[in-house]
Amino acid sequence: MLKNHMEVLIENHLPSLIKDTAHVRNCEKCQNDIQAIALNNLKPMYIMSDKGMIYTKLKELDLQFQSDIIRELVQAISLVESHPRHEVGLENF
Ligand SMILES: [Zn+2]
Repeated sequence: MLKNHMEVLIENHLPSLIKDTAHVRNCEKCQNDIQAIALNNLKPMYIMSDKGMIYTKLKELDLQFQSDIIRELVQAISLVESHPRHEVGLENF
């Protein structure tokens, strides 16, 4: 079965990056939006075999690779924070 490992990496990084946001950290809609935006801007990383898993682990050690993911996530967070794609009521803050 094919899996886009980039989804896992993004899910792993997201919580620490949104922990200081007023709204996004409690909003599943915005979090999904952020993940979608970041995933569209990053190369998918499809893995299938054990071999692919080893390659993926090595790639995860690459600092440039990690900082690319974080950069895209930070951009997506600020975009979604300033323009949430849903009505934001006071109860969401
Ligand atoms: Zn929201």
